[in-house]
Amino acid sequence: MRRNTLSRRSVLAVTAGCTLVSAGVASVVGDTAQNDDEGISRDSIVVREGTAEETTVYVATADTEGPTAVVVGGMHGNEVAGYTAAGRIADLTIDAGTLVTIPEANAVAIERGTRNDEEGTNLNRQFPEGETPETQLARELWGVVSEYDPDMLIDLHESTGIYAGDPVDGVGQAIFHSDGDDAADAAADAVDYVTETYVDDPLLAFQTGPFSEPDTDPAGLLAHKAARDLDADGFLAETLSTDVALETRVQWHTAIVERLLEGELLLDDADGRSPSEDPVDEEPAEPEPEPEPEEPGDDSADDGDEGPTAESPIARIETRPPSATETILEPGQTVTLDASQSRDPDGELVGYEWCIGDDGSFDEAGETIEVTVTASGDHPVALRVVDDDGSTDVDRVTLSTNC
Ligand SMILES: [Zn+2]
Repeated sequence: MRRNTLSRRSVLAVTAGCTLVSAGVASVVGDTAQNDDEGISRDSIVVREGTAEETTVYVATADTEGPTAVVVGGMHGNEVAGYTAAGRIADLTIDAGTLVTIPEANAVAIERGTRNDEEGTNLNRQFPEGETPETQLARELWGVVSEYDPDMLIDLHESTGIYAGDPVDGVGQAIFHSDGDDAADAAADAVDYVTETYVDDPLLAFQTGPFSEPDTDPAGLLAHKAARDLDADGFLAETLSTDVALETRVQWHTAIVERLLEGELLLDDADGRSPSEDPVDEEPAEPEPEPEPEEPGDDSADDGDEGPTAESPIARIETRPPSATETILEPGQTVTLDASQSRDPDGELVGYEWCIGDDGSFDEAGETIEVTVTASGDHPVALRVVDDDGSTDVDRVTLSTNC
């Protein structure tokens, strides 16, 4: 492991555009960061300050020197367990080294409850290897990551399917890792640990998989760039978002991160687990009955969040004009699709995602959208609503025209 030699002051100097703010007291923009009584200094950095993309990076530095780890959540705004776990990990008590946590990398997508932002930009495709990231948000996040030059980067995601050596049906219940024996061994150890400790159903056992090769899809992932440009051990953890309670998925993510940090940033420990400020629910994972039919995720297959323990929401599309789905539309005619009659019996809806056409990508968002039909034929449209438990439902209509 390379030693982190970066001082906080150099981070301040180099990540222009980022502002250092206090995690609690008025200001830490001085020579001394706050030291809590556990021998950890805690700072934070605000990225994209004053914009809708504003998000906070939490930095914990232990008195004892050690490696640097970066943990990221919320690259995709509908992958609730990842950013929920990352938010807890930000408060972790470490014994050595530096822990940099970015719990809500894509604040806009999280606010919308959608995978991508309102432009449909997939944040986790904006980090090309050997090049400058594609968007301002990605550049600022990369500025923080590269300045801390981590020994390890862990990115937390969710998927609607289980990884089975081929990501066609999904990439859930897996830890993908960068090249090299160290990363492969650490991923294997973490999947064994989390499976033995927290997974009851053999079908939900975690597996490992290698990162995709450079220049093959999916490309532009933050974890890949950290591994290949910064020589970090890169890990991308994926839990199954469907039919598993949110708290269970959060527990899996938390356990994976803690295990990967063990012996690096987390040291003491009698039973192989590190002391954490964050109480972990020791209940084993319970598979939930009554799986609901799933909407396929988009082509990168790490999409979606559904929590079956809560009552599912009900998706409902209404059209203006109301007859739009029963008639042949004029070429170029615009139809308004309105999801406002969708509802959640036990909470509120936090996301409205639309898949226009049959490519399976829910890359439009909003309670109401307009669709102009130009190509001849039948055009399926699907609405996926997400509630505050992470449960989803899908409604579909077909728009037809003879151009
Ligand atoms: Zn994801």
